[in-house]
Amino acid sequence: MNTKVYENNINELVIEEMRKILPQDAVSTKIVDRLAVCHGAFNVEYKWIQAGKYPYIPDLVVWPETTEQVSEILKIANKNKTVVIPYGGGSGSVMGSVFFNGGICLDTKKLTKFILNEKGMSVTVGAGWNIGQLEDELNRFGYTMGHFPQSMNSATIAGSVATSAIGTFSTKYGKFDDILIALEVVLPTGEVLYTKDSPKASTGINLNYLFLGSEGSYGICTEVTAKIWLKPEARKFSVYTFKTTHDGFEAVRKIVSLGQATLAVVRLYDEYESVFTIDAYKFEEGYALLYLGFEGRKDQVDLEMNISDEICRAEGGLYKGDQAAKQWEKDRLDTSYGLGTTHLPNGAAESLEVSASWDKLEDVWLAMRNAIAPYAQIIHVHFSHMYHTGGNLYCIIHTIRGKNSEDAEKNFLKCVKKALDACVKAGGSISHHHGVGTLKSKWMSDEHNNGFEVMKKIKRAIDPNNIMNPPVLGLGGEANVG
Ligand SMILES: Cc1cc2nc3c(=O)[nH]c(=O)nc-3n(C[C@H](O)[C@H](O)[C@H](O)COP(=O)(O)OP(=O)(O)OC[C@H]3O[C@@H](n4cnc5c(N)ncnc54)[C@H](O)[C@@H]3O)c2cc1C
Repeated sequence: MNTKVYENNINELVIEEMRKILPQDAVSTKIVDRLAVCHGAFNVEYKWIQAGKYPYIPDLVVWPETTEQVSEILKIANKNKTVVIPYGGGSGSVMGSVFFNGGICLDTKKLTKFILNEKGMSVTVGAGWNIGQLEDELNRFGYTMGHFPQSMNSATIAGSVATSAIGTFSTKYGKFDDILIALEVVLPTGEVLYTKDSPKASTGINLNYLFLGSEGSYGICTEVTAKIWLKPEARKFSVYTFKTTHDGFEAVRKIVSLGQATLAVVRLYDEYESVFTIDAYKFEEGYALLYLGFEGRKDQVDLEMNISDEICRAEGGLYKGDQAAKQWEKDRLDTSYGLGTTHLPNGAAESLEVSASWDKLEDVWLAMRNAIAPYAQIIHVHFSHMYHTGGNLYCIIHTIRGKNSEDAEKNFLKCVKKALDACVKAGGSISHHHGVGTLKSKWMSDEHNNGFEVMKKIKRAIDPNNIMNPPVLGLGGEANVG
């Protein structure tokens, strides 16, 4: 792998300047602190840790407590051309916070403001709020954000902005793009930018979209204003089996796309991923499995369940109660299944998530499955975020075992390449909610065509010294992962 993917100027003077503007315990060059924040949660990074030779670490870590401190840090970094990579919960899965050529790690966890706006139905919080803790805090006041990513106990709220994330109840509450109202961002030059909390404005481009999914390449998000909802009165589930995944697709498409009922959760597991659950519950062998979740007022939930039930049965769905889905609800934050394979010195397991419109989604699914098949021993696919015009595809790949950990890494990266090439060819988007990082940056021009050049021009205009997380999205350096 190419290690010098960006220029980074760091020396004792820069560190001294940081010490002058920050409290003593907010700057560290200790190896233990630098190791703690030097990686995300992608399986290749895990392999490096497992091998005990993590190759890329930051030169120092800073923990600002205020927006003013973030601004001062970036002014010093910009003047000295020192790279800064923001770090939230470190749960990113696309190698988006790897210090290929060192730099400053700006850990956001001490940015913890909290202002509840009950009349405006929003909350304004510091970037570093852990999503699980924030949800608990909102629940204490009778509210929910409705944002439940599987990583909610490790990820931060600004991480959701930076990666354009999504939670498992997205069909009701929306993806983070829909939940986000306003932002405070410190630009690479140290200027502070605010967007307004109006519900909608026709006043030029919506600048929130410049930072949603920008993975720290255009600035550091310091505050987030997000929608809140009343905590729902009822939550219910129903489970169906379908003879084929295609039949399940048709049922979901008719419920979601033809606007017949509002679901909170949709999880359609293809015939292959369904095998274990079908077996455990003695459902029909070889069938696909669908979980539907409903939330809101009791009478509304019952009505939506009835409408969905009618549609599922009309598409050949067999009703199976709610137990399997309730078990999913209970286990949904548990990620130990994939780790079992990754723990093996010669194994690797990871998810890849893409999206496509309804007319292309089944083609993307089959194309990706076929492309990965020669390199994987297990491929699980489900569809868990559905929209009016299409949906996502979430693929969990356990690669064929290699001789050692290098082999496992190579095998996994080969799966990524085969899968994303197939996805692009079939008309899908290379990432639905994990982002691009350095893992998928090679596909950015396929994804955006000349839009990618526009993004690079914006990068040069906002970040003339290329100090903000340069290699992510391929905007300020190419990491050549794989
Ligand atoms: C087991 C597991 C389950 C997951 N489930 C989901 C899921 O259900 N839904 C989902 O969307 N994702 C999921 N993810 C992916 C990951 O949790 C998300 O990408 C999450 O939004 C990352 O947040 P974080 O705070 O951990 O960010 P980090 O990993 O710290 O950073 C991610 C990227 O954002 C940048 N960044 C972080 N903070 C800021 C900031 N304040 N300003 C600017 N840039 C910043 C970083 O530089 C990096 O490029 C999962 C990951 C794992 C490991």
